[in-house]
Amino acid sequence: MTAQIIDGKALADELRASFKSRVASLAAKGQRPGLAVILVGEDPASQVYVRNKVSACEALGMHSEKIVYAATTSQAEVLTKIAELNANPAIHGILVQLPLPKHIDEDAILEAILPEKDVDGFHAENVGALAQGNPRFIPCTPYGVMKMFEKYGVDLTGKEAVVIGRSNIVGKPMALLLISAGATVTVCNSKTRDLAFHTRRADILVAALGKPRFVSADMIKPGAVVIDVGINRIPEGPDAGKLCGDVDFAAAKDVASLITPVPGGVGPMTITMLLANTIESAERVLKERN
Ligand code: NAP
Repeated sequence: MTAQIIDGKALADELRASFKSRVASLAAKGQRPGLAVILVGEDPASQVYVRNKVSACEALGMHSEKIVYAATTSQAEVLTKIAELNANPAIHGILVQLPLPKHIDEDAILEAILPEKDVDGFHAENVGALAQGNPRFIPCTPYGVMKMFEKYGVDLTGKEAVVIGRSNIVGKPMALLLISAGATVTVCNSKTRDLAFHTRRADILVAALGKPRFVSADMIKPGAVVIDVGINRIPEGPDAGKLCGDVDFAAAKDVASLITPVPGGVGPMTITMLLANTIESAERVLKERN
């Protein structure tokens, strides 16, 4: 079997095109969607992510603000900025790029963002709402994966879904969404005994562990839907430095029925769903105002 490739880039383009009219309509009503992105420090990967987020906003005619602090900036200074952005009506979404430098308490920063502007969906109130099956903002990466299932007609009801990884950003919200969709969900972590036993039972396998090409073809059930969230650099060999996922794509595509590539799979969807959350936030403000 050769799997159908899930084209995350094409789906992201299609969704972004559909957002244009929503942004224009909001702008015409004085509610142009606005996103503020805070970056603390000089992590090169974070710099690229922030730049991409800001330019994605601009491409849609959204308002965006990039706030960059030195790695030595105090927590108090960042909190002051968040309070300012919370009160700014031109800003509908606030995102603090993670990871933060060690002297800054990540939880304190995330909890300071107004839940109504928490477009990453990381505030405890929004995590709780998601867990209750009544989300305000769905974290962008798992939200993008759910859009892929929708686009490719993957019915999750009654399916065995296995998520590798239990992070707050990907694994846990992904599992919650799969539960809400009616799948039977197993969440694996680095302590899981016999990971392959679990993955081989998966009709839906989501790999989010951050280990290059870790999931081999013999860990995949024939005909499974495989979603590769991982973004890694190949450490050595002829492809050293190139991007790859957590799944051995070249071999896995001969076993799976549907599979995401890296790059061009989940990655483009993440920023797209950040735009979606910011637009939804602005639409909510407009609705409340009327
Ligand atoms: P993370 O916070 O490091 O979490 C990794 C998770 O994987 C942890 O729960 C860890 O278990 C588990 N894990 C590690 N090794 C394992 C193993 N051998 N067997 C089973 N589980 C194992 O990472 P993350 O933020 O969730 O990101 C995961 C990957 O997705 C990374 O490659 C990241 O770059 C990528 N990512 C991509 C996007 C995108 O837009 N495509 C967005 C976010 C993240 P423990 O909890 O036991 O340590």
